[in-house]
Amino acid sequence: MSQVFIISAPSGSGKSTLVHRLLEQEPGLIFSVSYTTRAPRGQEQEGREYHFVSREEFERMIAAGEFIEWARVFEDYYGTHRRYVDQGAAEGRDVVLDIDVQGARQLKEKIPAAVSVFILAPSREELEKRLRARGDTSDAVIRRRLAEAAREIGNFEQYDFVLINDDLQAAAERLLWIVRTSRLRASNPEVKSRVRQILETFGQ
Ligand code: 5GP
Repeated sequence: MSQVFIISAPSGSGKSTLVHRLLEQEPGLIFSVSYTTRAPRGQEQEGREYHFVSREEFERMIAAGEFIEWARVFEDYYGTHRRYVDQGAAEGRDVVLDIDVQGARQLKEKIPAAVSVFILAPSREELEKRLRARGDTSDAVIRRRLAEAAREIGNFEQYDFVLINDDLQAAAERLLWIVRTSRLRASNPEVKSRVRQILETFGQ
C-alpha cells in the first residue's frame, strides 16, 4: 500500500528545489518523472526531470491509455505515466507527483486518498524576482507566467495543504512534516491496513 503526494506550484515558486530536498530527506519516495512534449531546458536530462517525447508519441500514449492524468500547460503536453503509481503500489513506496492544477484535479478524482500540496511564493513581486533570476525568460513569458500564477493560486482551495515558500529551509521542513503527518491519517492506505489487522485480533 502506498500514498500518492501531489505537489503543484506556479513556475518560479521554488517547487523543484523543495521536491528535491524532500526526496533527499525521504529516500524511499518514488518521484514520478513526467512525459512532456516541451524541449529540455538548461541542464535537464532525459529520464531525470522529464521524459522528452514528440507530440506524435505523446498522442499515441494518450490513445493507449498510458497516462493516469495528462494536461496541456502553456503550449505543451505533460502527463503522468501509470507505471509510477503502479510501481509505488507494488513496492509499498509513496509516490511524489509534480503536476499542475488541472492534473491535480484529475488525479484526486481517480485517487481520492492522494494528498495534495500547493506551494506558492509570498507575493507577486517575489515571484517575478525569482522568474527573472532564472534568466531564461523574456518579458512576454514572465507576464504570461505571472498571469498564469494568479489563475493557479485562485484554485488553492482544491488542495489539502498550502505551503508559502517565504524561507526555503522552513518550507522544506514543513513539506517534510506534511508527508510524515499524512502517513498517520486514517485515510492512509498503510494505516487502514494496519488497523484492519488489529481489528482482526479482536475477532472483528
Ligand atoms: P515546466 O515546463 O516549467 O517544467 O512545467 C510546467 C508545468 O507543468 C508545471 O506546473 C508542472 O507542475 C506541470 N507538469 C509537469 N509534469 C506534469 C504532468 O505530468 N502532468 C501535469 N498535469 N502537469 C505537469
